[in-house]
Amino acid sequence: MKKIVVLGGGESGVGAAVLAQMKGFEVFLSDHSKISDKYKDMLYRHGIPFEEGKHSEEIILSANEIIKSPGIPDSSPLIVEANKRGISVISEIEFAGRYDTAKKICITGSNGKTTTTSMIYFLLKNAGLNVGLGGNIGKSYAYQVATEQHDYYVLEISSFQLDGMYEFKADIAVLLNITPDHLDRYGYDMQNYINAKFRITQNMNPEDCFIFCSDDEITINQLNKIVIQSRKLPFSQEHKVAQGAFIEDGKMVVKYDSEDYEMFLEELALQGKHNIYNSMAAAITAKVVNIDNEVIRKSLMNFEGVEHRMEKVLSVGGVLYINDSKATNVNSTWYALDCMKTKVVLILGGTDKGNDYSPIYDLVKEKVRAIVCLGVDNKKIHDSFSDKVETIVDTLSAEEAVKCASKLAKDGDTVLLSPCCASFDLFKNYEDRGAQFKAAVRKL
Ligand code: ADP
Repeated sequence: MKKIVVLGGGESGVGAAVLAQMKGFEVFLSDHSKISDKYKDMLYRHGIPFEEGKHSEEIILSANEIIKSPGIPDSSPLIVEANKRGISVISEIEFAGRYDTAKKICITGSNGKTTTTSMIYFLLKNAGLNVGLGGNIGKSYAYQVATEQHDYYVLEISSFQLDGMYEFKADIAVLLNITPDHLDRYGYDMQNYINAKFRITQNMNPEDCFIFCSDDEITINQLNKIVIQSRKLPFSQEHKVAQGAFIEDGKMVVKYDSEDYEMFLEELALQGKHNIYNSMAAAITAKVVNIDNEVIRKSLMNFEGVEHRMEKVLSVGGVLYINDSKATNVNSTWYALDCMKTKVVLILGGTDKGNDYSPIYDLVKEKVRAIVCLGVDNKKIHDSFSDKVETIVDTLSAEEAVKCASKLAKDGDTVLLSPCCASFDLFKNYEDRGAQFKAAVRKL
């Protein structure tokens, strides 16, 4: 019997283990850290053997195939050894895709994945389609393939997941944008990261659709270098396109075959330049899936957004507090600052992933009244911004940061948590950072 080892006992790993067992493989799951009770219970319930707090090399390297959590880098010694021995190492999405005949809508990009994935799911749901949501979001895709039956899946796919995908094919692939991120995992070589993102298009046929942003220079440069079989549907806020989406007279216009869809930008529930891009990608997808214009309009007018992404928390004393904790790179903070209409007290900092802050210099000079650093090591922020804003202060907790920001903000200002950085120096994750920020704001 073919033996599958799953590395990582989180949502995706346990889901993959359940599916593998259901398909008749001998399965073993191994996690280097502790596995949470919820997932241990699932493993017990399905009678799947596992270990935690260690990786037993002998067992793992006896596998015919390894399903690896996207959190484990390819450079980890165990994976290097598995590759050397010719053991196939794949991602949960690759594995589950083998057993799924549903139409797959896959969304990737450096920023906006969760927002756009959720928006597309909302659209398909509102259209009454039988659709599942998965990938980097919500319930494990593999677990759903094992236990549910859907006609469509909307999947958020990260570059790390794409790294372990080979035969998988999307029916509709959306690439939102490419900006430097996670370069530590790509040998600090941008091209490696670009190649990873473009794996979203692999194996696609002429009847499939590739939806991408034609204002994104990196995407366009790469498209000039490679051949993509599928139909191409660009979206742009800078120029008209024959098929795809563009802006005209304050309206978003979508053209797909002989069908048109138009909507005033003001009607969109999610405002800001980045969200117009996300809405364009979602609207093209909806047309490809043949969703009614009225359903598209209602959905894009009523979509509520996702927590921790430009989330309005409260107005206190004439100052609006916005939680954009998910902005873990410079580009997403750029978009956050770009759509600010007031002066801003910006809460910035955390674990730096090799940031170059220069893209936001001008916006900071124009809009930022003060910077409140929320991180352990803030030297780079001081070095980058000391000649651009008058006040930069250091804080070590969300509560301290919010208190400081509230003192620095003037009537009519916005306090924006959009940190450009990961959160692991002071918080469990970005959700924890956002939740602590919101709690601190409510205490003001
Ligand atoms: P991801 O899942 O790719 O990390 P999210 O939807 O969670 O993306 O959004 C992450 C951050 O990026 C948020 O701060 C959000 O305001 C910003 N953002 C959302 N969409 C875009 C976009 N199309 N381009 C740039 N930034 C974006």
